[in-house]
Amino acid sequence: MNCRVCDSTNLELAVDLGSQPWCNHFLKLEEIGKEPFYPLRVLYCHDCSTAQLDYTVKKEIMFGNHTYLSGITKSLSDHFRTVAQDIDQRFFLDIQTKSVLDIGSNDGTQLKHFQELGYEVLGVESSKTTAKIANESGITTLNEFFNLELVQRLNRKFHIINAAGVFFHLEELHSVTEGIREALLDNGVFVVQFLYMKRIVENLAFDQIYHEHLLYYNLKNIEVLLNRHRLEMFDAYLAPIHGGSIVGFVTHKGKRQVSDRLQSLRKAEIDEQSNEFATYLKFAERIKQMRLENLAYLEASKKHGKKIFGFGAPVKGNTMLNYFGVGTQYLDCLVEKNELRRNLYSPGMHIPIVIEKEVSSLPNIYYVLAWNFKKEILANNQHLIDKGVEFYFPVNPREV
Ligand SMILES: [Zn+2]
Repeated sequence: MNCRVCDSTNLELAVDLGSQPWCNHFLKLEEIGKEPFYPLRVLYCHDCSTAQLDYTVKKEIMFGNHTYLSGITKSLSDHFRTVAQDIDQRFFLDIQTKSVLDIGSNDGTQLKHFQELGYEVLGVESSKTTAKIANESGITTLNEFFNLELVQRLNRKFHIINAAGVFFHLEELHSVTEGIREALLDNGVFVVQFLYMKRIVENLAFDQIYHEHLLYYNLKNIEVLLNRHRLEMFDAYLAPIHGGSIVGFVTHKGKRQVSDRLQSLRKAEIDEQSNEFATYLKFAERIKQMRLENLAYLEASKKHGKKIFGFGAPVKGNTMLNYFGVGTQYLDCLVEKNELRRNLYSPGMHIPIVIEKEVSSLPNIYYVLAWNFKKEILANNQHLIDKGVEFYFPVNPREV
């Protein structure tokens, strides 16, 4: 295959997570055992250093009807508000009629914050259910896949284009990036928010690797991609979302000066060899070790008669459960807030999901799959901790 970013054929296997089901399809009872499995392998490009999956599950399968709602967690919604206020104040305060386009706009959480600031908003969301929820709450949302063809049909330009957590999903990477350039006003700013691969590696957060995430970005390789489309990052910072995400600010090439904080982030990647193949190989070794440690912990807990529930049923949790081989021999259920997942089972390991407010007994241990909300989870569940329930975090993200 060719590198998805630079077209090079100089790719090499870095991380192999085996064969995994598509992790965003929680199963109905009658679907158990019928789910297809696909290879989950990360290749490294020796030319542009992009880490990427070699196997693509078709986007129509992956994004037709997902059940992830971004409005559901307070910390994420707060983050989206901060992003909206920050970009408005820095770049568009003096402009009267201003507009924003959100790619992968989910239930409209990000756009609501722009609407409050007086923006004309438009969302593009591929999930039918989620787009409907957004439209019903007053956020105009097209139920489509974003690409150059859609931009040409819309024939409209925007002050701000936002893409949070979708830029690594994209099968049509170059068409999407070209579409962004085309739809961005001359003085416009494209805000790209993505999981920071450097952090994933440092935190051993390998559960962020799954079929929907085709690409894994550090600044170096996303800048290769942007530059190919005459776009340029001029500012970026690291936010504590999902264990460490980059919020990058991009504009047409040569339009704005590169900030000091972006320069220091770039330098840190070089100093810490974040874009070297050897770093990825070390990461793969440490994940193997982590698997053994987790299995030993769960095995010992079970031997001591402990009752263990999973905390959260996030999509990424399925990568971890399937790679570790953790199923109902350890976890009785996965306790989850999102009611769209009621009565469903985790793909691959078939652990039943129970809605949080309907849990009828307490476990001795909560094995926390939604580790990226560690602070929030510990704060909200102090009453359980006081009763002696242990919260075990398989991934412990560093503070940002
Ligand atoms: Zn490449």
